[in-house]
Amino acid sequence: MKIAVRGGHNPGVPGANGLLNEVIEDRKYYKSVIKYLQVLGHEVLDVTPGNTFSSAQDLTYGVSKANEWGADLMVSCHVNAGGGQGAEVIYISNKGKEYAEKVVNAIASLGFHNRGAKADTRGLYELRHSNMPCIIVEPFFLDTQSDVDLYLHVGYDRLGEAIAEAISGKMIEIEPVKPVAVPQPAPAPADPNLADYGMPATELQWKLNWRGYGVAQTGRWDVQTQAAVLRFQQDAKLHPTSYLNVETAKALNNYDFKVHKVSVEGLDIKTASKVVEILKNNGYNPAMD
Ligand SMILES: [Zn+2]
Repeated sequence: MKIAVRGGHNPGVPGANGLLNEVIEDRKYYKSVIKYLQVLGHEVLDVTPGNTFSSAQDLTYGVSKANEWGADLMVSCHVNAGGGQGAEVIYISNKGKEYAEKVVNAIASLGFHNRGAKADTRGLYELRHSNMPCIIVEPFFLDTQSDVDLYLHVGYDRLGEAIAEAISGKMIEIEPVKPVAVPQPAPAPADPNLADYGMPATELQWKLNWRGYGVAQTGRWDVQTQAAVLRFQQDAKLHPTSYLNVETAKALNNYDFKVHKVSVEGLDIKTASKVVEILKNNGYNPAMD
């Protein structure tokens, strides 16, 4: 579908001004309308005028562009003023009414009060002179605090998206964000059956700590303990199962077993030196790096 879209008024002949300025805000959300209509596969022509000196020039610019182009629909984006509340969309033709109803309902679904689709009673130029169905979108009142608050909360982009989806009858499909694979340690088994190897978790953790695999003394088989068991198995050139097995239990119980690495990370230099001294006294030859 070929859709002509314009932002209402222009800096030369500005629209309403209140808590917000009409031209400034409609120039934000009409761009989102265009962006999302294009995303939804429509051909869009931006028929917003630049600066003009008269309101007549401002109004004729968009309509004549839309007529020349042979648009199937024209959407004129404004913001209401006058102290009311909520959204309304103005139309003149039956086809325009269909679009107006869809659009005003979509805006209302964002939380704005639904003033409904309204047949033009003022002889609005764009509605009278466009050769195609035309709607004038007034999503909220820029001089009503609650409307302004809601608009700022919803955001012009979401507003533009809702309008585009309503016109198109299709929803923007957002590519699901692919979860980034974060490597996780294997979960600890529910029943490690530590007693089979004659070593309760408290003892296992103590022995791992003694060898420098700093683990918290939780008294339970946990992920940290499992990771430490795996590191011990790797350092000791055992089968790296990450579970306590007979081979690992034997190695842990063998105090002659070579200590490959002692972690003194987090220890102050005095304590670290003491650890090194104890290791030396026990026949090891540690080096601190
Ligand atoms: Zn306006």
